[in-house]
Amino acid sequence: MSDRNQTKAPLRVLFLSAEVFPFAKTGGLADVAGSLPKAIRKLGHDIRIVMPRYGFIDKDRWNLQPVTRVHVPMGDTVEEGEVYLTYLGDVPVYMVDNARYFHRDGIYAYPDDAERFIFFSRAALELARALDWAPHIVHCNDWHTALVPNWLKTIFKDDPFWQNTRTVFTIHNLAYQGVFGHRILEVAGLAQYGFIVHPELSHWDHVIHFMARGIIFADIITTVSPRYAQEIMTPEFGAGLDPLLRERADTVIGILNGIDTEVWNPATDEYLPQRYDVEHLEKRVKNKLHLQEESGLDVGEDIPLFGFIGRLTEQKGIDLLVAAAEDVVRHLGAQLVILGTGEEKWQELIKSAAAKFPRHVHAYLTFNNPMAHHIYGGVDMLLMPSRFEPCGLNQMIAMRYGAIPVVREVGGLADTVHDFDPRTGEGNGFSFRPYDRTALYTAMVRGVENWKHRDTWRQLQVRGMTTDFSWNRSARQYVEVYYRALSMPGHVPQRLLEKLHFRGAP
Ligand code: ADP
Repeated sequence: MSDRNQTKAPLRVLFLSAEVFPFAKTGGLADVAGSLPKAIRKLGHDIRIVMPRYGFIDKDRWNLQPVTRVHVPMGDTVEEGEVYLTYLGDVPVYMVDNARYFHRDGIYAYPDDAERFIFFSRAALELARALDWAPHIVHCNDWHTALVPNWLKTIFKDDPFWQNTRTVFTIHNLAYQGVFGHRILEVAGLAQYGFIVHPELSHWDHVIHFMARGIIFADIITTVSPRYAQEIMTPEFGAGLDPLLRERADTVIGILNGIDTEVWNPATDEYLPQRYDVEHLEKRVKNKLHLQEESGLDVGEDIPLFGFIGRLTEQKGIDLLVAAAEDVVRHLGAQLVILGTGEEKWQELIKSAAAKFPRHVHAYLTFNNPMAHHIYGGVDMLLMPSRFEPCGLNQMIAMRYGAIPVVREVGGLADTVHDFDPRTGEGNGFSFRPYDRTALYTAMVRGVENWKHRDTWRQLQVRGMTTDFSWNRSARQYVEVYYRALSMPGHVPQRLLEKLHFRGAP
């Protein structure tokens, strides 16, 4: 296979993700996996998605057709996987089924997650072989698929089938790293290659760290915004992995996520009580009144309405949100609708705010896609006071729907939201830097002050709604990354090897 050298030839790309919208979703990873491959396919490349077939993915609804079976070595045993095929637009989506691993209510957070995703990742490689379809690129996403580069550079190093394949590893969120006990190395078939020890990461000597292995072995590492790419190489945002990432700085690339502009389109959105577009913005208010009513809030066009949508975790700044909401309700008479699921402690905080101000704060503590659409289409402003934010899609979706983002200036939020300056008229939202309630509150006050000036506000809305948040530009950047990976020698960089120390497994 010499086509590795024909650098601009169409590429075969195997795209691995633990979640893909609309089949299975907990957050932004699913949105990306459900839309980026479509955009890459449009550029003429043969990209194919592989994901697990979770028990809740209905075979009839999605027209899953059995295509092959794969036999996956898992330590001393072999597990079977049934592979189904369906399509997302014209992108083939292979789903690997195994009742023991995937027939559960959820996607993650099971005690055997390491095994589940080893099985999935290895099955994806076995599938390529079963189809006799050797990809130029295996595009891995997050820790779940991070052992693939490790395998290709160890157990498959001399396998002719994989000789011309390179790997791209995309970090969607560095906070989820996949750290497990050493037994898992045997399940992964990597025991004979021993532990990896790095002088600056000695606290991880005795664990198997999936994300670290992706960073070490992938040919190129990408992450989901340019700002986050810089941030993760610093101790503040590096979640302990910054020394390793700095080691690979020349291959850490930030590419901003896009959104699926067909899924997120207020002009055609079937969930919205009232559809609208930038020429008919006046219709949007119907959605606001509807949202206030269905949420049991005071109904009125003249009450400023904030929204929040997201996973309820440390990352999303719920403590700031609740603290500032109190001030905003008391002093500005504004309202807040929250949609999210997650940790108990944040749910409790939110519940108590809603109980205190029932006409001003309402919380939906569920995962509810139609309600997300109601919120994007109805609120005046969307809040994202994140501690850190790799990219964030909500702020882009919000702008596309004419809701103005109020965000903390971190990660992808800093790349996409520029603080509005009423003197120059520049900017597309409101942002603040220090992680404290006063900073958020001040940004919200500025938001409300500007919201009162209807002309200014309309300008802001039009700016957001007419910005191109599609994948067009970023998909091209990924393709460039693929070609660059293909031109690489396919070794772990010598510089890094010198720092790493491989120790025999116990
Ligand atoms: P993250 O990946 O950190 O969860 P993103 O902003 O990248 O955050 O993406 C979040 C995606 O998940 C958006 O599409 C958002 O609308 C959706 N989402 C998050 N929580 C919920 C929920 N409770 N109900 C419906 N959609 C949600």
